[in-house]
Amino acid sequence: MITLLKNHPLKELNSFGVDEQADSIICFDKKEDLNSIFAEGNEPEKWYVLGGGNNILFTQRFAGTLIKPTGKAINIKVQFEDYIIIEAEAGVEWDDLVEWSVEHNLWGMENLSLIPGSVGAAPVQNIGAYGAEAKDVIERVHYFSTKDRKHHTIGNAECRFAYRDSIFKQELRGNAIITSVEFRLSKSSQPNLGYGDLQREVESRGGATLKNIREAVCAIRSSKLPDTKVLGNAGSFFKNPIVGKEVGERLKSEYENMPLYPVSESKCKLAAGWLIDQAGLKGYRTGNVGVHERQALVLVNYGGATGGEVIALSDYVRSQVKEKFGIAIDPEVNIL
Ligand SMILES: Cc1cc2nc3c(=O)[nH]c(=O)nc-3n(C[C@H](O)[C@H](O)[C@H](O)COP(=O)(O)OP(=O)(O)OC[C@H]3O[C@@H](n4cnc5c(N)ncnc54)[C@H](O)[C@@H]3O)c2cc1C
Repeated sequence: MITLLKNHPLKELNSFGVDEQADSIICFDKKEDLNSIFAEGNEPEKWYVLGGGNNILFTQRFAGTLIKPTGKAINIKVQFEDYIIIEAEAGVEWDDLVEWSVEHNLWGMENLSLIPGSVGAAPVQNIGAYGAEAKDVIERVHYFSTKDRKHHTIGNAECRFAYRDSIFKQELRGNAIITSVEFRLSKSSQPNLGYGDLQREVESRGGATLKNIREAVCAIRSSKLPDTKVLGNAGSFFKNPIVGKEVGERLKSEYENMPLYPVSESKCKLAAGWLIDQAGLKGYRTGNVGVHERQALVLVNYGGATGGEVIALSDYVRSQVKEKFGIAIDPEVNIL
Protein backbone atom coordinates (compact mmCIF):
# COMPACT_ATOMS: atom_id res chain seq x y z
CA MET A 1 0.00 0.00 0.00
CA ILE A 2 1.21 3.50 -0.83
CA THR A 3 0.31 6.39 1.47
CA LEU A 4 0.97 10.03 0.60
CA LEU A 5 1.31 12.60 3.39
CA LYS A 6 1.44 16.27 2.39
CA ASN A 7 3.13 19.10 4.38
CA HIS A 8 3.95 16.66 7.09
CA PRO A 9 5.61 17.59 10.42
CA LEU A 10 8.91 15.79 11.06
CA LYS A 11 9.31 16.38 14.80
CA GLU A 12 8.19 12.86 15.69
CA LEU A 13 10.10 11.36 12.75
CA ASN A 14 13.65 12.35 13.74
CA SER A 15 15.40 11.39 16.96
CA PHE A 16 16.85 14.90 17.39
CA GLY A 17 13.25 16.11 17.70
CA VAL A 18 13.89 18.99 15.30
CA ASP A 19 10.62 20.69 14.36
CA GLU A 20 10.76 20.88 10.55
CA GLN A 21 8.32 19.79 7.84
CA ALA A 22 8.52 17.86 4.59
CA ASP A 23 6.62 18.83 1.43
CA SER A 24 5.54 15.19 1.25
CA ILE A 25 6.20 11.73 2.58
CA ILE A 26 5.39 8.59 0.61
CA CYS A 27 5.11 5.42 2.71
CA PHE A 28 5.17 2.08 0.90
CA ASP A 29 5.10 -1.50 2.15
CA LYS A 30 5.70 -3.63 -1.00
CA LYS A 31 8.87 -3.35 -3.03
CA GLU A 32 6.77 -3.34 -6.24
CA ASP A 33 5.21 -0.06 -5.05
CA LEU A 34 8.50 1.62 -5.95
CA ASN A 35 7.88 0.83 -9.63
CA SER A 36 4.79 3.01 -9.57
CA ILE A 37 6.24 5.67 -7.25
CA PHE A 38 9.18 6.06 -9.66
CA ALA A 39 7.28 5.41 -12.90
CA GLU A 40 8.83 7.36 -15.74
CA GLY A 41 7.55 10.91 -15.93
CA ASN A 42 5.88 10.58 -12.54
CA GLU A 43 8.88 10.26 -10.22
CA PRO A 44 9.48 12.76 -7.42
CA GLU A 45 11.96 15.43 -8.49
CA LYS A 46 13.80 15.54 -5.18
CA TRP A 47 13.63 12.62 -2.80
CA TYR A 48 15.43 11.06 0.17
CA VAL A 49 14.87 7.82 2.08
CA LEU A 50 13.67 8.22 5.65
CA GLY A 51 13.96 5.24 7.97
CA GLY A 52 13.44 5.89 11.66
CA GLY A 53 15.22 9.26 11.42
CA ASN A 54 17.80 8.27 14.04
CA ASN A 55 20.76 9.40 11.98
CA ILE A 56 19.38 12.42 10.16
CA LEU A 57 19.56 16.08 11.14
CA PHE A 58 17.02 18.29 9.39
CA THR A 59 18.34 21.85 9.15
CA GLN A 60 15.45 23.21 7.08
CA ARG A 61 12.12 22.26 5.54
CA PHE A 62 12.57 19.25 3.28
CA ALA A 63 11.39 20.67 -0.07
CA GLY A 64 10.82 17.30 -1.70
CA THR A 65 9.52 13.81 -1.02
CA LEU A 66 10.69 11.55 1.77
CA ILE A 67 10.35 7.89 0.82
CA LYS A 68 9.58 5.70 3.83
CA PRO A 69 9.61 1.88 3.69
CA THR A 70 7.08 0.35 6.08
CA GLY A 71 7.11 -3.38 5.19
CA LYS A 72 7.71 -5.41 8.34
CA ALA A 73 7.97 -9.04 7.27
CA ILE A 74 10.66 -11.37 8.64
CA ASN A 75 11.01 -14.72 6.86
CA ILE A 76 13.24 -17.75 7.16
CA LYS A 77 14.69 -18.34 3.67
CA VAL A 78 16.95 -21.38 3.99
CA GLN A 79 17.98 -23.67 6.84
CA PHE A 80 21.37 -25.34 6.91
CA GLU A 81 22.85 -27.58 9.56
CA ASP A 82 24.91 -24.83 11.20
CA TYR A 83 23.24 -21.65 10.06
CA ILE A 84 20.11 -20.10 8.68
CA ILE A 85 19.39 -17.35 6.17
CA ILE A 86 16.58 -14.96 7.04
CA GLU A 87 15.18 -12.00 5.13
CA ALA A 88 13.76 -8.90 6.79
CA GLU A 89 11.98 -6.04 5.05
CA ALA A 90 13.40 -2.53 5.29
CA GLY A 91 10.66 -1.24 7.61
CA VAL A 92 11.35 -3.77 10.39
CA GLU A 93 12.70 -2.11 13.55
CA TRP A 94 16.31 -3.22 13.89
CA ASP A 95 15.96 -4.08 17.55
CA ASP A 96 12.78 -6.10 16.90
CA LEU A 97 14.84 -8.20 14.51
CA VAL A 98 17.61 -8.66 17.09
CA GLU A 99 14.98 -9.71 19.64
CA TRP A 100 13.48 -12.14 17.10
CA SER A 101 16.93 -13.68 16.48
CA VAL A 102 17.56 -14.14 20.21
CA GLU A 103 14.10 -15.69 20.69
CA HIS A 104 14.88 -18.12 17.83
CA ASN A 105 18.24 -19.01 19.40
CA LEU A 106 20.23 -17.63 16.47
CA TRP A 107 23.64 -16.05 17.00
CA GLY A 108 25.25 -13.02 15.37
CA MET A 109 23.12 -9.95 16.08
CA GLU A 110 23.00 -9.91 19.87
CA ASN A 111 25.83 -7.37 20.32
CA LEU A 112 23.87 -4.99 18.09
CA SER A 113 20.90 -4.93 20.49
CA LEU A 114 19.07 -1.64 21.04
CA ILE A 115 20.60 0.28 18.12
CA PRO A 116 17.66 2.45 17.10
CA GLY A 117 16.52 2.45 13.48
CA SER A 118 15.24 0.29 10.68
CA VAL A 119 16.62 -2.81 8.97
CA GLY A 120 16.81 -0.86 5.69
CA ALA A 121 19.26 1.65 7.19
CA ALA A 122 21.52 -0.96 8.82
CA PRO A 123 23.66 -1.69 5.72
CA VAL A 124 23.91 2.00 4.77
CA GLN A 125 26.41 2.94 7.46
CA ASN A 126 27.18 -0.66 8.47
CA ILE A 127 25.88 -0.13 12.00
CA GLY A 128 28.16 -1.36 14.71
CA ALA A 129 28.59 -1.64 18.46
CA TYR A 130 30.33 -3.78 21.08
CA GLY A 131 32.83 -5.30 18.67
CA ALA A 132 30.23 -6.32 16.06
CA GLU A 133 29.06 -4.78 12.80
CA ALA A 134 26.06 -5.41 10.55
CA LYS A 135 28.49 -6.60 7.85
CA ASP A 136 29.30 -9.65 10.00
CA VAL A 137 25.76 -10.99 9.49
CA ILE A 138 24.58 -9.45 6.21
CA GLU A 139 24.40 -12.00 3.40
CA ARG A 140 22.70 -9.98 0.65
CA VAL A 141 20.96 -6.64 0.20
CA HIS A 142 17.96 -6.10 -2.08
CA TYR A 143 17.40 -2.60 -3.42
CA PHE A 144 15.48 -0.64 -6.01
CA SER A 145 17.58 1.55 -8.27
CA THR A 146 15.92 4.80 -9.28
CA LYS A 147 18.44 5.05 -12.14
CA ASP A 148 17.24 2.04 -14.14
CA ARG A 149 13.96 1.55 -12.21
CA LYS A 150 14.86 -2.07 -11.53
CA HIS A 151 15.22 -4.23 -8.44
CA HIS A 152 18.75 -5.48 -7.72
CA THR A 153 20.47 -7.83 -5.28
CA ILE A 154 24.07 -7.52 -4.15
CA GLY A 155 26.14 -9.82 -1.95
CA ASN A 156 28.12 -8.89 1.15
CA ALA A 157 31.43 -8.30 -0.67
CA GLU A 158 29.79 -6.03 -3.26
CA CYS A 159 28.40 -3.85 -0.47
CA ARG A 160 32.00 -2.74 0.26
CA PHE A 161 31.39 -2.44 3.95
CA ALA A 162 33.87 -0.46 6.03
CA TYR A 163 33.73 1.47 9.30
CA ARG A 164 30.37 3.32 9.13
CA ASP A 165 30.49 3.05 5.38
CA SER A 166 29.22 1.03 2.44
CA ILE A 167 28.47 1.32 -1.27
CA PHE A 168 25.13 2.89 -0.26
CA LYS A 169 27.02 5.93 1.07
CA GLN A 170 29.28 5.99 -2.00
CA GLU A 171 28.46 4.94 -5.58
CA LEU A 172 24.82 4.09 -4.87
CA ARG A 173 24.17 7.17 -2.76
CA GLY A 174 21.03 8.93 -3.94
CA ASN A 175 19.78 6.21 -6.25
CA ALA A 176 19.21 3.08 -4.17
CA ILE A 177 16.29 2.30 -1.90
CA ILE A 178 16.93 -0.80 0.19
CA THR A 179 13.81 -2.94 0.29
CA SER A 180 15.01 -5.94 2.31
CA VAL A 181 18.15 -7.48 3.78
CA GLU A 182 19.17 -11.12 4.13
CA PHE A 183 21.15 -12.19 7.17
CA ARG A 184 23.19 -15.31 7.93
CA LEU A 185 22.78 -16.33 11.58
CA SER A 186 24.53 -19.15 13.36
CA LYS A 187 22.77 -21.99 15.16
CA SER A 188 25.78 -22.62 17.38
CA SER A 189 27.00 -20.53 20.26
CA GLN A 190 29.45 -17.78 19.18
CA PRO A 191 29.80 -15.27 22.00
CA ASN A 192 31.77 -12.11 21.16
CA LEU A 193 32.54 -10.54 24.52
CA GLY A 194 35.89 -8.86 23.90
CA TYR A 195 34.57 -5.32 24.02
CA GLY A 196 34.61 -3.03 27.05
CA ASP A 197 32.53 -4.08 30.04
CA LEU A 198 30.56 -6.71 28.17
CA GLN A 199 32.29 -9.80 29.59
CA ARG A 200 31.78 -8.61 33.18
CA GLU A 201 28.14 -7.68 32.60
CA VAL A 202 27.44 -11.04 30.95
CA GLU A 203 29.14 -12.99 33.74
CA SER A 204 27.16 -11.11 36.36
CA ARG A 205 24.03 -12.45 34.62
CA GLY A 206 25.22 -16.06 34.79
CA GLY A 207 27.24 -16.58 31.58
CA ALA A 208 27.27 -16.23 27.82
CA THR A 209 23.75 -17.17 26.73
CA LEU A 210 22.12 -15.19 23.94
CA LYS A 211 19.56 -13.77 26.34
CA ASN A 212 22.23 -12.68 28.85
CA ILE A 213 24.34 -11.01 26.15
CA ARG A 214 21.33 -9.11 24.81
CA GLU A 215 20.33 -8.03 28.31
CA ALA A 216 23.89 -6.96 29.14
CA VAL A 217 24.23 -4.89 25.94
CA CYS A 218 20.82 -3.26 26.56
CA ALA A 219 21.77 -2.45 30.17
CA ILE A 220 25.15 -0.93 29.25
CA ARG A 221 23.66 1.11 26.39
CA SER A 222 20.77 2.41 28.51
CA SER A 223 23.16 3.52 31.24
CA LYS A 224 25.43 5.36 28.80
CA LEU A 225 23.23 6.86 26.11
CA PRO A 226 20.49 9.45 26.59
CA ASP A 227 16.95 8.31 25.73
CA THR A 228 15.93 10.14 22.56
CA LYS A 229 12.37 10.48 23.88
CA VAL A 230 13.71 12.52 26.79
CA LEU A 231 16.66 14.29 25.19
CA GLY A 232 16.78 14.55 21.38
CA ASN A 233 20.00 13.16 19.87
CA ALA A 234 21.29 10.94 17.07
CA GLY A 235 23.70 8.75 19.02
CA SER A 236 27.31 9.37 18.06
CA PHE A 237 27.31 12.65 16.18
CA PHE A 238 30.89 12.19 14.94
CA LYS A 239 32.80 9.27 13.47
CA ASN A 240 35.95 8.10 15.20
CA PRO A 241 38.78 9.52 13.07
CA ILE A 242 41.09 7.11 11.29
CA VAL A 243 44.62 8.47 11.06
CA GLY A 244 48.06 7.33 9.94
CA LYS A 245 49.96 5.16 12.42
CA GLU A 246 52.66 7.80 12.94
CA VAL A 247 50.05 10.48 13.82
CA GLY A 248 48.40 8.09 16.31
CA GLU A 249 51.71 7.18 17.90
CA ARG A 250 52.83 10.80 18.18
CA LEU A 251 49.60 11.71 19.99
CA LYS A 252 49.87 8.62 22.20
CA SER A 253 53.36 9.67 23.30
CA GLU A 254 51.92 13.06 24.27
CA TYR A 255 48.68 11.75 25.85
CA GLU A 256 49.42 8.45 27.58
CA ASN A 257 45.76 7.65 28.37
CA MET A 258 44.50 8.25 24.86
CA PRO A 259 42.58 5.27 23.42
CA LEU A 260 44.14 4.06 20.16
CA TYR A 261 42.84 1.11 18.13
CA PRO A 262 44.84 -0.46 15.28
CA VAL A 263 42.86 -0.64 12.01
CA SER A 264 45.53 -1.90 9.60
CA GLU A 265 49.32 -1.97 9.24
CA SER A 266 49.42 1.73 8.52
CA LYS A 267 46.23 3.14 10.08
CA CYS A 268 44.70 3.47 13.52
CA LYS A 269 41.45 4.78 14.97
CA LEU A 270 41.14 7.48 17.64
CA ALA A 271 38.15 7.88 19.96
CA ALA A 272 36.33 11.09 18.95
CA GLY A 273 34.50 11.13 22.31
CA TRP A 274 37.83 11.14 24.17
CA LEU A 275 39.17 13.99 22.01
CA ILE A 276 36.02 16.07 22.63
CA ASP A 277 36.17 15.33 26.35
CA GLN A 278 39.86 16.33 26.52
CA ALA A 279 39.07 19.52 24.61
CA GLY A 280 36.98 20.38 27.70
CA LEU A 281 33.60 20.09 25.99
CA LYS A 282 31.87 17.22 27.79
CA GLY A 283 28.71 18.76 29.31
CA TYR A 284 29.21 22.03 27.34
CA ARG A 285 25.91 23.75 26.69
CA THR A 286 24.93 26.70 24.53
CA GLY A 287 21.29 27.77 24.14
CA ASN A 288 19.10 24.76 23.37
CA VAL A 289 21.93 22.38 22.47
CA GLY A 290 24.91 20.81 24.14
CA VAL A 291 27.47 18.02 24.39
CA HIS A 292 26.03 15.25 26.55
CA GLU A 293 27.41 15.20 30.08
CA ARG A 294 28.17 11.46 30.17
CA GLN A 295 28.97 10.79 26.51
CA ALA A 296 30.93 13.50 24.70
CA LEU A 297 30.27 11.96 21.28
CA VAL A 298 26.57 12.74 21.59
CA LEU A 299 25.16 16.19 20.81
CA VAL A 300 21.77 16.80 22.40
CA ASN A 301 18.70 18.96 21.91
CA TYR A 302 17.58 20.27 25.31
CA GLY A 303 14.25 21.22 23.72
CA GLY A 304 13.24 23.49 20.87
CA ALA A 305 16.60 23.40 19.08
CA THR A 306 16.81 23.99 15.35
CA GLY A 307 19.04 21.94 13.08
CA GLY A 308 21.09 25.13 12.55
CA GLU A 309 21.88 25.31 16.27
CA VAL A 310 23.11 21.72 16.24
CA ILE A 311 25.32 22.49 13.22
CA ALA A 312 26.77 25.57 14.93
CA LEU A 313 27.62 23.44 17.98
CA SER A 314 29.10 20.72 15.77
CA ASP A 315 31.30 23.31 14.00
CA TYR A 316 32.47 24.64 17.37
CA VAL A 317 33.31 21.14 18.67
CA ARG A 318 35.20 20.31 15.47
CA SER A 319 37.20 23.54 15.63
CA GLN A 320 38.15 23.01 19.29
CA VAL A 321 39.31 19.43 18.63
CA LYS A 322 41.25 20.58 15.56
CA GLU A 323 42.91 23.34 17.56
CA LYS A 324 43.96 21.10 20.45
CA PHE A 325 44.95 17.91 18.61
CA GLY A 326 45.24 18.91 14.93
CA ILE A 327 42.69 16.17 14.16
CA ALA A 328 39.60 16.64 11.95
CA ILE A 329 36.46 14.92 13.17
CA ASP A 330 33.59 14.43 10.72
CA PRO A 331 29.89 14.02 11.40
CA GLU A 332 28.45 10.52 11.19
CA VAL A 333 24.95 12.00 11.06
CA ASN A 334 23.33 12.75 7.67
CA ILE A 335 22.69 16.49 7.46
CA LEU A 336 19.79 17.66 5.30
C1 LIG B 1 20.54 6.88 20.82
C2 LIG B 1 21.19 6.43 19.54
C3 LIG B 1 22.18 5.46 19.59
C4 LIG B 1 22.80 5.02 18.41
N1 LIG B 1 23.76 4.06 18.50
C5 LIG B 1 24.36 3.61 17.37
C6 LIG B 1 25.35 2.57 17.43
O1 LIG B 1 25.66 2.05 18.50
N2 LIG B 1 25.91 2.15 16.28
C7 LIG B 1 25.58 2.69 15.06
O2 LIG B 1 26.13 2.27 14.05
N3 LIG B 1 24.63 3.67 14.97
C8 LIG B 1 24.02 4.13 16.09
N4 LIG B 1 23.09 5.12 16.01
C9 LIG B 1 22.71 5.66 14.68
C10 LIG B 1 21.46 4.98 14.10
O3 LIG B 1 20.87 4.13 15.02
C11 LIG B 1 21.80 4.19 12.84
O4 LIG B 1 22.40 5.02 11.88
C12 LIG B 1 20.56 3.56 12.21
O5 LIG B 1 20.93 2.68 11.19
C13 LIG B 1 19.59 4.60 11.70
O6 LIG B 1 18.44 3.94 11.26
P1 LIG B 1 17.18 4.77 10.78
O7 LIG B 1 16.17 3.80 10.24
O8 LIG B 1 16.73 5.66 11.85
O9 LIG B 1 17.81 5.58 9.56
P2 LIG B 1 17.60 7.11 9.17
O10 LIG B 1 18.18 7.98 10.22
O11 LIG B 1 16.21 7.37 8.77
O12 LIG B 1 18.52 7.17 7.86
C14 LIG B 1 19.92 7.09 7.95
C15 LIG B 1 20.51 7.08 6.54
O13 LIG B 1 20.19 5.86 5.91
C16 LIG B 1 19.43 6.11 4.73
N5 LIG B 1 18.41 5.07 4.66
C17 LIG B 1 17.52 4.72 5.64
N6 LIG B 1 16.76 3.70 5.22
C18 LIG B 1 17.16 3.39 3.96
C19 LIG B 1 16.73 2.47 2.97
N7 LIG B 1 15.73 1.60 3.18
N8 LIG B 1 17.36 2.46 1.77
C20 LIG B 1 18.39 3.32 1.50
N9 LIG B 1 18.82 4.25 2.39
C21 LIG B 1 18.21 4.27 3.61
C22 LIG B 1 18.83 7.48 4.90
O14 LIG B 1 18.52 8.08 3.65
C23 LIG B 1 19.96 8.18 5.65
O15 LIG B 1 20.96 8.58 4.74
C24 LIG B 1 22.43 5.58 17.17
C25 LIG B 1 21.41 6.55 17.12
C26 LIG B 1 20.79 6.96 18.29
C27 LIG B 1 19.70 7.99 18.23
